[in-house]
Amino acid sequence: METTDKVLILKTGKFKENDLWVKFLSASHGVQTAFAFGGSRSRKRFGGCLEVFSQVLFKIESNKSGAYQVLKEGSLMKSYPEIRTNLRKTGLAANCLKFIESAGTEKESSRRVFDLLSETLEVIENSEPDDFFPLFFRAKVAFEQGYNPDFTICSGCGKPLFSAKPVVFDIERGVIVCSECDKGRSGDSVGAGTIRTLAWIQDTGPSNWVTLSLPYEVRQECFSVMDKFMAYHMGLVWEDSGYRKI
Ligand SMILES: [Zn+2]
Repeated sequence: METTDKVLILKTGKFKENDLWVKFLSASHGVQTAFAFGGSRSRKRFGGCLEVFSQVLFKIESNKSGAYQVLKEGSLMKSYPEIRTNLRKTGLAANCLKFIESAGTEKESSRRVFDLLSETLEVIENSEPDDFFPLFFRAKVAFEQGYNPDFTICSGCGKPLFSAKPVVFDIERGVIVCSECDKGRSGDSVGAGTIRTLAWIQDTGPSNWVTLSLPYEVRQECFSVMDKFMAYHMGLVWEDSGYRKI
């Protein structure tokens, strides 16, 4: 069966002299792997399409049993020259790609995650986001995949969390409780600025995050609390070289 799919290339590798495997994020099917026979030399069928970060429209064929997919040809829809040549931008974009590669996607959220990644690459290409940008991206991916705590209301008493007092983030249950409702249960105490920032990320997109200037402590706290949350719920831990599924 042959289908056409819009994808973003995450990773490629050789498995024979001229043949490649390609890992990509499909807008309709999430993270997939397929083979491109003759991929490393066929300019006619794959010109510029098999580079990491490229956005491509692929013709894809599944074998009879559906066990593997073969890329028949591709047309390049968009590439990101700045991301490819500016080392700092390459690093930021690669961090986002690695996260998607490790996290995978649910079928229902693949379109939203695809749009999010595509918008994120656009922002990295055209502006100068700071080093925390990939953190916001990762948090947003978690939210889009349904790991989406309500940061605005106390799960105990139902009151809005508007005060400046610290609150408690119950990582395991994925809920926030106010200081009055917290009865010494296990949870991480987090500042009001942190949950407000996370609520804001839920409501906005990558183009909004570039102009955000946050106090260092708030960034650090967002980073540490969201990484714990994602490790617990999505089974992902950050290690020096990338993410590892646990
Ligand atoms: Zn409460």
